[in-house]
Amino acid sequence: MKLAERLSAAVAGGIRRIGQIAIRPQDGVYLLCHIDDENSDASLLEKFEGSATARDLSTWAEDGHYRFTKGELSLKRGWLLQLSSSEELRQALDHFYPAAAGLWFAQHDGRLEIEHLRDKLNRQTGMYRFARTLSDAGAQRLVSEVCGPGHCCVKKILWQLDANTPLEDSEASRFDGVTGDIDRSQAIPLLCREACNHFVAEARKASKAEQDAKATG
Ligand code: SF4
Repeated sequence: MKLAERLSAAVAGGIRRIGQIAIRPQDGVYLLCHIDDENSDASLLEKFEGSATARDLSTWAEDGHYRFTKGELSLKRGWLLQLSSSEELRQALDHFYPAAAGLWFAQHDGRLEIEHLRDKLNRQTGMYRFARTLSDAGAQRLVSEVCGPGHCCVKKILWQLDANTPLEDSEASRFDGVTGDIDRSQAIPLLCREACNHFVAEARKASKAEQDAKATG
């Protein structure tokens, strides 16, 4: 089954949320809005049609900053987006949360590939190769300092340090990828299958700080 058809079947089966987006099927179309506008007077929301608008809506946050990663908890409010087909729904969700629905289906099918942190860091070259030497303790600390809703990322982390070393318990490692108060069976969780570029950049900095501390200690 194509991704758009699977998505449509999932919505028909009760899926109503992904990240900060509320999804409502209505009279053959799909209506999307920010979850905090779900119960707002629709006449007060700015109306848009078509999936291309999702790119603009997802690029800039309310305060005008560029949303560096789409998993950021900073989607702006005040809009209502109408989509006329399941393919438009797929495209729009891919703009808001790239590949998120596909990753969720892949996880369901047992074919989602996960890359653990050591494998990711060991692949780094150039200036990022310093990230390879980050200690385990430093990596665990970084997860709690970079990931999770407390740091504006609302993805569920699927990777470990390596195949034998799970992440330590923290708000970040515990987060389930679903934003807000909703029956979890009605939401598509945002999944993190490998550390993002932002995390790798922070790993490089933390690793350098560890080496500097050793040199001066
Ligand atoms: S590594 Fe994953 S969970 Fe952590 S900040 Fe990046 S995208 Fe979010």
